[in-house]
Amino acid sequence: MLNIKYLAMKHCFGPVPSRRLGLSLGIDMLPKKTCNLDCVYCEIGPTRKYSTHRARYTPVGPIKDELKKVLTSGKVKFDHITFTASGEPALHANLGELIAFAKDLTDKPVAILTNSTLLHHKEVRRELGRADILLPSLDSVNEASFRKINRPAPGIELAEIIKGLERLRQEFQGQIWLETLLVSGINDSEQEASMLASVIQRLEPDKIQLNTVDRPPAVDWARPVSLSKMEKFSEILGPKTEIVVDFRKKIAQGHARLLETEILDLLARRPLRDDDIEKLFASAAKRAKEILARLEDSGNVTKKCFKDENFYMLAPGIGPACEHAENPNAEKEH
Ligand code: SF4
Repeated sequence: MLNIKYLAMKHCFGPVPSRRLGLSLGIDMLPKKTCNLDCVYCEIGPTRKYSTHRARYTPVGPIKDELKKVLTSGKVKFDHITFTASGEPALHANLGELIAFAKDLTDKPVAILTNSTLLHHKEVRRELGRADILLPSLDSVNEASFRKINRPAPGIELAEIIKGLERLRQEFQGQIWLETLLVSGINDSEQEASMLASVIQRLEPDKIQLNTVDRPPAVDWARPVSLSKMEKFSEILGPKTEIVVDFRKKIAQGHARLLETEILDLLARRPLRDDDIEKLFASAAKRAKEILARLEDSGNVTKKCFKDENFYMLAPGIGPACEHAENPNAEKEH
């Protein structure tokens, strides 16, 4: 039985349905937003001040009390316990203690989401050792793209992240599901995919989960990539890769960003008539036409009449990678 009263707790939330983890009981251990990265796609918002050291950001007593209450009640149905956070969970100095505490109270698998930045520390890998599934992120192995997307705190090095992931694989007995999130025009090229594929060979994750921007990001220019681009990327990464965004469902629901990306991607290949829009987007056709009208107003799309039919096409100089967005190279100040 799902008991939604736990949604109101301070640290335990959900259970929430997750495409990656089924019904996930979340544990948030950090004050908003305690992180050493400032990812452009972060759905929690921008990192105003970096947190770079492991510390007891919140007392463990109340987290344990909530966990005990939920796990011993027997009333909450879930598939995984997921340690996530309003930031990077491994920054909490008591992460290992909390994982062990949860494992002693339940047989359900414990999963940890991490941005991978602290995995080169032996102590962090040791603490994560009792988890069942680790979901580390690695968005790019290209230094420039890594800095543009993840905007790390000073001192965080991509080479150390990769080294940490390698060591993790050598030591960790459970499942490793590596997540890569693609941002249009930054880490979505075939060259990026090939570079990542060669590093992933060494990291030997059990799964690679490809994601894109599908929630309001920290910066507006962080745009999703199209399904066709994700499929190409996935093909290059190999058979362990799965696309975790449910494009078709989200587009049918009228998800504005994904819809806009799909429209631009289609227009890059051929002009579209009104009835193409109806057929392609079905229940989301009205929303797609509103987006086309907006793209036309902003000068990214033009409409031309040919043999009494209207055709939408990309304006000269506009490509599918959202060139109309703000300059993604702009550095953020901290
Ligand atoms: S690592 Fe996670 S919490 Fe930190 S900025 Fe990136 S997305 Fe946000």
